[in-house]
Amino acid sequence: MYSNFGPLVCEFQRRLGDLLLMGDEQVICMSSGTSALSAAILARAGRAGEKRLAIVPDLTFAATAAAVERCGYDLHLTEVDRASWQLDPDVLRRHPRLSKVGVVVPVAAYGRPVAQAPWIRFMSDTGIPVVIDAAAAFASMLRAPERFFGVVPTAISFHATKSFGVGEGGCVVWSAPRAEQRLSEAINFGFFEDRCSVAQSFNGKMSEYHAAVGLAELDGWSGKAAAFERAVASYRRHALDLGLDGRTILFPDSDYIYPMFVCADGEESRLLQDRLSQAGYGSRMWYRSGLHSHPEFARCSTDDLAVSEWLASRHLGLPMAVDLEHRDVGEVLGVIASALRQPAWSFAEPARAT
Ligand SMILES: *Cc1c(COP(=O)(O)O)cnc(C)c1O
Repeated sequence: MYSNFGPLVCEFQRRLGDLLLMGDEQVICMSSGTSALSAAILARAGRAGEKRLAIVPDLTFAATAAAVERCGYDLHLTEVDRASWQLDPDVLRRHPRLSKVGVVVPVAAYGRPVAQAPWIRFMSDTGIPVVIDAAAAFASMLRAPERFFGVVPTAISFHATKSFGVGEGGCVVWSAPRAEQRLSEAINFGFFEDRCSVAQSFNGKMSEYHAAVGLAELDGWSGKAAAFERAVASYRRHALDLGLDGRTILFPDSDYIYPMFVCADGEESRLLQDRLSQAGYGSRMWYRSGLHSHPEFARCSTDDLAVSEWLASRHLGLPMAVDLEHRDVGEVLGVIASALRQPAWSFAEPARAT
């Protein structure tokens, strides 16, 4: 049936709540991961007021920046920690512009989840609201929901490209007084229980159609996760055989969908992208060279972003799919191994996979 917050959305929220060890009023479905992030910011921090600055890590997808700007904030692009790939709350505590900051948005880069505890401490020490962008970290967070869900609102994407997908969709997971009401108002014109707008809002609701796909995805999730595990195991096996194991990043160090090869530098990354493309394989620099490298975000104020740029331009995303065959993975890593044996200036054609 056509309905706001209809029966399938409610059932989907209830089942997600069970999976994430949260109550069903603490999981609210949204029309996308980007909407989820904007809704969580509106519900937790509100639109930008006097404190107009939003701290966002440079190492993320463009959607993080778009969602934050939609809430009226000015972005300040911030450096990440080399080991965690995330904002470091202890470094941030000493940030010179902290008094202007209205919201901090830590990101689960490449789906490596952000723990709640350090950010709960940050919030209680500084009084600054925090909203976590864990858009691509659903599968990784399922390994320890009690660490990754709680009083810091967390936005998740169910986009088709993420490990758990409904097409377009997402949710916010948040345990706080009136979380359901505040999030529902943010995505439904400021309404809750009556047609009187009382909060800043937009239309960010999940449709019944997407919830239906979500319920089917939940039914099939254990099989899908097992298929991802098989593909990850193939990467691990072939990387070991080819001596590339020290340079591949695989679940659980990133989410299922981000098997990555760690390039020596930008030049090597370009060489490998070319060789993979010649062999008929796609690859991705998921975050370009960081948010600041997108023309749209070049205007943002930034800190020194050396680590973020270094990480973004070295992590080459490799193919992943539930039906990726062991042999396909061998060919992808084989192209990489042979490109690394050939000097970059060689005119020889790379061995073409058959
Ligand atoms: C995918 C993604 C988003 C956006 O999610 P959509 O569902 O595509 O709107 C936001 N942030 C990060 C880090 C993502 O990977």
